[in-house]
Amino acid sequence: MYCKHCGKQVDKSAKICPNCGGNLKINSRLVNVQDEYITDSGSFNYTLWGLILPMVGLTLHFAWREDKPLSARAAMRGVVAFGAILMLFIVALSFVIIL
Ligand SMILES: [Zn+2]
Repeated sequence: MYCKHCGKQVDKSAKICPNCGGNLKINSRLVNVQDEYITDSGSFNYTLWGLILPMVGLTLHFAWREDKPLSARAAMRGVVAFGAILMLFIVALSFVIIL
């Protein structure tokens, strides 16, 4: 089926669109879904966790991928940022060693 919010194809058992985080089942679970939304803040704190402790960020990302797509994405951003910084560090270090 397709997400009614962003139009992307999503798994038909999905409760929340993995692409945009939109609610795909507005029914009796409405109250629960709203609860999930409140807790799925996508807070920048999760990005910081991923940045400082990438293993924690990765764990959070995979734990939340289904239920908290925004927070999972925020955690993953931190992990990616950590990777980017690490790469820059390695490149800088190799220059120092060469020169
Ligand atoms: Zn969507």
